[in-house]
Amino acid sequence: MSEKKVALVTGGGRGIGAACVKELAARGFRVGIHYRSSGEAAETLLAAIGDGFLLRADLGDIAQVDALVEGLKAETDRLDVLVNNAGVSIDTDMQRMRIEQFDEQRAAVRGAWYLTKRVLRQFMMRADSGRIVNISSVVGHTGNGGQIPYTMEKAALDALTRSLARELKGRSILVNSVAPGFIATEMTAQLPEAVQAGILAGVPLGRMGRPEEVAEVVGFLAESGSYITGSVIHVNGGLYGG
Ligand code: NAP
Repeated sequence: MSEKKVALVTGGGRGIGAACVKELAARGFRVGIHYRSSGEAAETLLAAIGDGFLLRADLGDIAQVDALVEGLKAETDRLDVLVNNAGVSIDTDMQRMRIEQFDEQRAAVRGAWYLTKRVLRQFMMRADSGRIVNISSVVGHTGNGGQIPYTMEKAALDALTRSLARELKGRSILVNSVAPGFIATEMTAQLPEAVQAGILAGVPLGRMGRPEEVAEVVGFLAESGSYITGSVIHVNGGLYGG
């Protein structure tokens, strides 16, 4: 087995995912950067971190997730850390939301479940070692109008964390969620200014978080926190304490 630890970050080309890639690379991991459409950004990031590799897949398409695992097998004989970060937020109220949008919202979490299942079997269960970090959201806990399918999917991701940690009883594989609050990325930039101001009014620290502030907690769970599993760690400037 190669000596250097290896991590895979889904949706690693931009936003919180890109910050996780940099954090894990700085901690000495060889990092696989998964992307769907942000190929150029992913290539630039790979050049910046030096040691790593790129893998493309739409996680909504199970055949593409299978191809992603094949690509992973070709790149590495070990996978120490999986960060299920990729996600979309399709925001509209319940009456306007179409079933196709609901299904699109589901796709990333369904893909995360399937990728986790494949990666566990292929790498982590064989090694009896690994860390899985799921990027969920504060709104999976608090709820949020105008985001019902998004909040349902994020709550489901935290349920995956809790249940998988129990299912892996007796193994040295730790599964946790990091639930960000309001973080400055393209996802939140698309919110109208009035909505942003409304959210900020409820944040005790009075500002949006930075992607790096989420990534440093992911980095901690990737290497430390050896007695933490099945937990949701909130990173939200005080918006919600859990
Ligand atoms: P972002 O800037 O919009 O980036 C989303 C990422 O997900 C992109 O890398 C995108 O890849 C990838 N992605 C989306 N759908 C995909 C699919 N079907 N297949 C493959 N990749 C897919 O979002 P972000 O703010 O960094 O969010 C990252 C994660 O944190 C998400 O799960 C989000 O729900 C969660 N989160 C964010 C906030 C926040 O305030 N920003 C708060 C709570 C939770 P491509 O660009 O390559 O297509």
